[in-house]
Amino acid sequence: IERDALLRKKHGIHISGHNVPSPLQNFDDLSSRYGCTSYLFAKLAELGFKEPTPIQRQAIPVILSGRECFACAPTGSGKTLAFLFPILMKLQPGSKEGIRAVILCPTRELAAQTTRECKKLVKGKKFYVKLMTRDLAKNGSFQTMHCDIIVSTPFRLEFAIRKRKLDLSRVEYLVLDESDKLFELGYVKQIDCVVKACSNPSIIRSLFSATLPDSVEELARTIMHDAVRVIVGRKNS
Ligand code: ADP
Ligand code: MG
Repeated sequence: IERDALLRKKHGIHISGHNVPSPLQNFDDLSSRYGCTSYLFAKLAELGFKEPTPIQRQAIPVILSGRECFACAPTGSGKTLAFLFPILMKLQPGSKEGIRAVILCPTRELAAQTTRECKKLVKGKKFYVKLMTRDLAKNGSFQTMHCDIIVSTPFRLEFAIRKRKLDLSRVEYLVLDESDKLFELGYVKQIDCVVKACSNPSIIRSLFSATLPDSVEELARTIMHDAVRVIVGRKNS
């Protein structure tokens, strides 16, 4: 416990919530403590990642422990891997369950970038990662398509849910990335629609942000159950 506190202090990690799991001392903890499969673990070295960033040290164990995560860390601090990695560790490849993770991004560029990062991590595995393009939202055959993880902007996902009856009832992980931007851009109604469509009662929601405006705090209060709050650095850096 003392060791956890020291490690957090060293990396500028501030937490709140009960029973917060220990931060990672290094990436090896993912194998020794959480049984990370070797293919996924090997990707970290392939990508040249030697040490977890502060947000990764704390957010990854939180999500792996089945807790919801409300995370705030500066731009460029590795938030993408902080949510993708634990989700990929938890979801089994080759499942026929349909969409089990939804990543919501504020812009098409960010959605495309997140999709690319995710594809890099699962390359060579039976994992289907899809970017919700305009064409997919309008013409995709969602009932038959192979898709484990979908990355989308709010409008396209809402469109697919409302007009195309996209089924998100088996989604296990919902991530709202850059939630401060999602609000700035006025996507409240779309977020609401997505949150409702992901109706699995045991869903684990995560909220990632670079700043913490009141709107984001409010969203965290309304949609999250028993979340662990992780803040790296200052609140509005
Ligand atoms: P954020 O979402 O917090 O703005 P990103 O997830 O886009 O940041 O990451 C920023 C950059 O840092 C990316 O190029 C990513 O590949 C890289 N990165 C992520 N994690 C690590 C790590 N543990 N070590 C080194 N580089 C990393
Ligand atoms: Mg990001």
